[in-house]
Amino acid sequence: MSQPIIEVVDLTFDYPGFRALDRVSLAIKPGSVTALVGPNGAGKTTLLRCIAALETPLSGVVRVAGQDVYESPRAVHRLMGYLSDNFGLYSDLSVAQGLEYAARSQGLAPAAVPAAVQSTAERMGLGDKLQNLAGTLSRGQRQRLAIGQAIIHSPQVLLLDEPASGLDPEARGALALVFKALQAQGMSLLVSSHILAELDEYSTHMLALNQGRVLEHRALNHMAHAGVGEVFERLLRLEFVGPAESLAPWFSSQPHVRVNRVDGNGVEIGFSGDASAQAALVGACVAAGHPLTTIAPVTENLQQSYLKSLAAERAGNPTRRAQP
Ligand code: ATP
Repeated sequence: MSQPIIEVVDLTFDYPGFRALDRVSLAIKPGSVTALVGPNGAGKTTLLRCIAALETPLSGVVRVAGQDVYESPRAVHRLMGYLSDNFGLYSDLSVAQGLEYAARSQGLAPAAVPAAVQSTAERMGLGDKLQNLAGTLSRGQRQRLAIGQAIIHSPQVLLLDEPASGLDPEARGALALVFKALQAQGMSLLVSSHILAELDEYSTHMLALNQGRVLEHRALNHMAHAGVGEVFERLLRLEFVGPAESLAPWFSSQPHVRVNRVDGNGVEIGFSGDASAQAALVGACVAAGHPLTTIAPVTENLQQSYLKSLAAERAGNPTRRAQP
């Protein structure tokens, strides 16, 4: 398994008189897009701020690309873009000035700044607004400027706190395309939002928090995205002509397979191979004398996954699956 791009170990954070994060541990894979979800007050913003080294925790370790964020915050900031929930823009700076300021503060070589400003503005659909003041832009444009400022130094990791709040459906759709493009370039994204349908479009993983603890962290079944150098696990269901119970040991011995459950005539597996590995599995299954009638992805959208894990937690039966 590749080294996590973000690693959080036993992180505890207290506001005066209130524990906002309680021994949070997680590892985020490079090239993933993780939907950070949870009820109001779950600790999402606090977690993002701790990862961005903007808050000092009571205890615990956060590493980004292997570097300790509290020991080397400046070095880590070069690897990271952060979009806060209030965007953090200067209203009196023009789009060009705001981008230039971000480029310089992220340590871009002065000679590289003008081209970075131009290409980032174009990428964010602000190429014709370079001289407009941030304070005169619409909410959607300000938000695109803020994302432009966060990515102008081509970070490996992008943290986004409620990036889509207040945007109309068209602007949200455009934002989803930007996130997909950033992921395709190898960037890892951690995105908090309450708009689950929109997160569902581009997220590979779900990280659910509740009351300052990790409720669930796992790959989303419907996403078969390749990460950097790997394929994320997804759930597949195979159906057979007769009872499947005796097949579990055979599946457990196959590469890339984790048996999730067996019921009736079906076997549900977590599969982390690519398309040819999947074809090889089907071939091996038939050759071993287990003819199958169907193989299909188990689909469950983000909203269903999230509500299910929240309901399980509230019923006193938490999922707490933390190894995506
Ligand atoms: P939301 O979805 O509403 O944005 P969140 O999951 O981002 O919530 P946080 O903003 O991280 O949650 O807050 C976690 C908890 O910490 C909440 O109960 C909140 O009231 C509390 N909290 C946040 N900031 C402070 C503060 N400055 N002082 C005291 N408590 C705080």
